[in-house]
Amino acid sequence: MKLRAPSPADAAAILRRAVRRYRPPGAAAMPPQAEREMLARHDGDVARWLPPLGALFGALVVLFGIWDALLDRSHYLLSLTLRLTLVLAGAPALWNTHWHPGLRCLLLYWSHCGAVVLACFVLDGGVLYGMAGMTACVAMAAVMTLRPRILLSLFSLPFALYLALGAWRLPPFTYLSGLMQYLLAMALATAVMLIIRSFHRRAFLLERELLHSARHDGLTGACNRAYLDQMGERELTLALRHGRPLAVAMLDIDHFKRVNDNYGHDVGDQVLRALARTCQDTLRGVDHFGRYGGEEFVCILPETARAEALACAERLRLALAALAIETPAGPLRFTVSVGVALASADQPGWPALLKRADTALYRAKNSGRDQVALAGA
Ligand code: GH3
Ligand code: MG
Ligand code: MG
Repeated sequence: MKLRAPSPADAAAILRRAVRRYRPPGAAAMPPQAEREMLARHDGDVARWLPPLGALFGALVVLFGIWDALLDRSHYLLSLTLRLTLVLAGAPALWNTHWHPGLRCLLLYWSHCGAVVLACFVLDGGVLYGMAGMTACVAMAAVMTLRPRILLSLFSLPFALYLALGAWRLPPFTYLSGLMQYLLAMALATAVMLIIRSFHRRAFLLERELLHSARHDGLTGACNRAYLDQMGERELTLALRHGRPLAVAMLDIDHFKRVNDNYGHDVGDQVLRALARTCQDTLRGVDHFGRYGGEEFVCILPETARAEALACAERLRLALAALAIETPAGPLRFTVSVGVALASADQPGWPALLKRADTALYRAKNSGRDQVALAGA
């Protein structure tokens, strides 16, 4: 087989692919949707902190004009004017909440850091004294965003100013030394941003996991009672407010105690898990399904009127009756009874709606089990 050396285009493609695939430690399991939520939340935090911290940043940039007067009496007025003008130009970023936080940070950073870089070049020997200010500005960018692209955009303009003005005004050695310090500061700020981002990721995923376990039942993975009540209250309020239909179906396994007694609790648990899986697969994405008690489950069916609610309950009943749980003693089948209640403005309130579904369920039980009953029918 003939081997051929990779072309520069191949090498660039390989590098691009490696960069795209690289994930910092702890980042592998972050789904794109979660990543977007985390970034949006950070944007919200940045937007909240931008007015006080941005104003402080502006005040410091202007106040350092006093230091300029000590450094170079003949040029400090020009540097102070530059500082003031650019800080005022960036000020709308502090309060304009219609702009994206990334854009606000960009305007604030470019104007304020731009002012610091320009002031350094206006003063005699200003770069030597102002390098600390320029690198301090670079460090600030690390807390302004968690997006590498925005971070690079923040750096770009002040750095381009330094590159152009430095090449024009500085002796080569001073220029190179400043360039090294500037590049080092940007590399460190990028590393700090990536570390902050990994902390945010871990905290965000942990919070999601905690929230999930606080809202879901450990055995079946269905919503738990507290979360189901929360969703029920919300869906009912929305339905009554907009005059839309809403139905609730309450399911209870028939003679479940016998399953436990005859097959053991582990098989009983298996039945509960299979029931939850089947219901979740049968229901629509907009429906809510949860475990209300031991072997009692509740489905919240938004935008569902009488006929569709009864059809849905019947579909669930048949799907569950068709299940066969494999056990050492052979396949186990079970049935459920279902009580259906429809939201009504005459009897508002989630507890009242559930109570009607419960009453219908017990009517289904008393009428021989393995059937659907409608409340008030
Ligand atoms: P009915 O048809 O009238 O509903 O009869 P039933 O036997 O299903 O009703 P009952 O309320 O008497 O029994 C419910 C049983 O559910 C009793 C309890 O041991 C069992 N159970 C509750 N939670 C769990 C659980 O998490 N796992 C298992 N295996 N069983 C549970
Ligand atoms: Mg039961
Ligand atoms: Mg029961």
